[in-house]
Amino acid sequence: MVDMDTLVSLCKRRGFIFQSSEIYGGLGSAWDYGPLGVELKRNIRNLWWRDIVHLRRDVLGLEAAVLMHPRVWEASGHLERFTDPMVDCRECKRRFRADHLDTQAWLHYCPAKKDNKFEIPAGEACKHCGAHRTLCPVCGKGELTEPRQFNMMLKTFLGPVEDSAAVTYLRPETAQGMFVNFENVLQAMRRKLPFGIAQIGRSFRNEITPGNFIFRTREFEQMELEFFVNPLDTVDGRPADEYWHDHWIETRMAWYQRYGISSQNLRLREHAKEELAHYAKRTVDIEYQFAIGWSELEGIANRTDFDLRRHAEVSGRTLSYFDEERKQHLVPYVIEPAAGVDRTVLAMLTEAYHVEDVRGEKRVVLRFHPEVAPVKIAVLPLLKKREEIVSRCWELRDRLAARGWVTVYDDTAAIGRLYRRQDEVGTPYCVTVDVQTVGDAEKGETGDGRVTIRDRDSMGQIRVPIADLETAFADLLGGAAWAAVAARYPAQAGS
Ligand code: ATP
Repeated sequence: MVDMDTLVSLCKRRGFIFQSSEIYGGLGSAWDYGPLGVELKRNIRNLWWRDIVHLRRDVLGLEAAVLMHPRVWEASGHLERFTDPMVDCRECKRRFRADHLDTQAWLHYCPAKKDNKFEIPAGEACKHCGAHRTLCPVCGKGELTEPRQFNMMLKTFLGPVEDSAAVTYLRPETAQGMFVNFENVLQAMRRKLPFGIAQIGRSFRNEITPGNFIFRTREFEQMELEFFVNPLDTVDGRPADEYWHDHWIETRMAWYQRYGISSQNLRLREHAKEELAHYAKRTVDIEYQFAIGWSELEGIANRTDFDLRRHAEVSGRTLSYFDEERKQHLVPYVIEPAAGVDRTVLAMLTEAYHVEDVRGEKRVVLRFHPEVAPVKIAVLPLLKKREEIVSRCWELRDRLAARGWVTVYDDTAAIGRLYRRQDEVGTPYCVTVDVQTVGDAEKGETGDGRVTIRDRDSMGQIRVPIADLETAFADLLGGAAWAAVAARYPAQAGS
């Protein structure tokens, strides 16, 4: 599997992701998406939105403001409980999450043993003196403080006066936007349970230890669905909330696989009772095998009626649903699949990265699913000095782009290099215009009006009439196998 440094370097070199504010030394907890990264991220958002909102009959979209009334965070429990245990090094002043330190081995200078310097496995105390980790894992010298609870919400002030009345927070999750708008959506759209409200947007958390590239940042993007169900209903003989929880776990696992994540790199992790959030009846994480090991990609929680009840209590509004059949008011339960856009980007990049040996040369290729790939088609001239070739390339680029396929033109190297560059950013297809396409007016030769299409994965090449390009790409980018489309055209000699 590709390591994180290789990925970070490829992402920078090829215009996917840059360190935030790099010219000022960088901001460790934020990253900027470059020209290719922004397309990749947008594709992931669009696929989620299409599959969760547009293709379903039971989900509606929402875009709530990042800034919300401060009482939202009182009702949600974030003010009181959105904390992580934090310890400081007294020497170098670095901060750590106490629970993360338990996952690393530590070096101990034991007062109870003669040969007193040794490593103790993660999470264990010293067998001789009983001490837990006391020294900083980075500088190795400073004593660590006792853990303190640290609230991870980013505080800000609204308006010109920075007093306590003006304090509010940047939202740490998008979910609360759906809960506070539950009644608005229900009334405006006249929905019956079960139905969901979905949102994609930025969230902010003052993480104690951001890091691992875009895995954990202080500003990130979430794709969240709050799916409201009637707790009195049963489906297939099971309580509706439990049925829908399983439905969403399966649906979300299948979603990652549909867009190219292999099943070996995905697994479900059931939260133990002690670990469950205060609102949750059951939570299952979808984990991906990142370069840093198995880690959360998405959490799917059964939040019960906790959120709507709390908002009703704190706001004084009745947030309930009238069950026509039973003639009674009730508070819906909520199933929440909550995914991170950035973590999905990281998983897609990790999964796509391959290094191959092609005729003794190293080929780096990102095998993105065509719908995920930032650029769909690259149009390349075989000779950039031939005006007819270049102008035909630009014409084709514009024509394909107008069909909604992100298409680029590049002539800054010889064709072999240009292919490798497109492989390295995961472009599924290249189109090459050559002398045969346009002919040679001086020699009185007319062109054959055909171009070469090259497939990223097999590196196979076919000659296709320009008039057929749109049909061929509609098939290829619509999911047709290369072999099926290639069978319709002659192979390019030498491919
Ligand atoms: P973790 O245990 O990794 O801190 P979490 O359980 O707090 O994550 P949730 O509150 O369930 O995360 O948020 C839903 C999703 O949002 C996560 O699965 C993840 O994909 C994404 N996410 C959460 N925190 C961050 C972050 N700091 N940076 C990037 N993505 C994040």
